[in-house]
Amino acid sequence: MGISIIDQTGVIVVDMQGDFTLLKKGSLAVQDTDQSYVDKVHTVTKQLKSKGYKIFATQDFHPQNHISFYTSHNDKAPYDTIEIEDRVQILWPPHCVQGSDNADILIDSNLFSGIVQKGMDPKYDSYSGFFDDGGINTGLEELLKSFQINTLIIFGLATDYCVKATAMDAVQLGFNVILIESLCKGVAEDTTLSALKEMKSVGIKIIPSISDAL
Ligand SMILES: [Zn+2]
Repeated sequence: MGISIIDQTGVIVVDMQGDFTLLKKGSLAVQDTDQSYVDKVHTVTKQLKSKGYKIFATQDFHPQNHISFYTSHNDKAPYDTIEIEDRVQILWPPHCVQGSDNADILIDSNLFSGIVQKGMDPKYDSYSGFFDDGGINTGLEELLKSFQINTLIIFGLATDYCVKATAMDAVQLGFNVILIESLCKGVAEDTTLSALKEMKSVGIKIIPSISDAL
């Protein structure tokens, strides 16, 4: 018997953490991330697990003095931008600080075959679950390859930042990528629309709900 499609498809639940949700009054709460959204993500993740899909998670996990926090810079406010080397860094409110309750993943950890933490280097942000802004590999690619995964179903927070960066890098690395739009929420409407367009343009399949993917 060969390897089935389910065996070769992994699920990545991106940054489903308290600080990104209204449910947990997060410092960087994304719109529409109430109890019903988190419950829906949890239910779908459990369903996929019971069908045999391997489930993975990314977790934003910053030290207190992280470069992406406006509090790490003099005279800066939340959502200011600064230029560092050749890149633009948005300055966020402190979020997902290592050891804080709101850094926790809101989905039952027993569902995951692996959790990849990112953004631990104080000098580099990491929207992508695969590489940080300094180009350092998080280990997610090797983890997925160790399970012979070549196709990814991706959802979580936030559409226009970490979901997009993770999905775009996945395509770059040769994975087939399916994005479940209704299980993703974006920080802002304009950047979410352009993120969806950009993802579509590189061949990411954007599907309204999980039932359309299976
Ligand atoms: Zn972060």
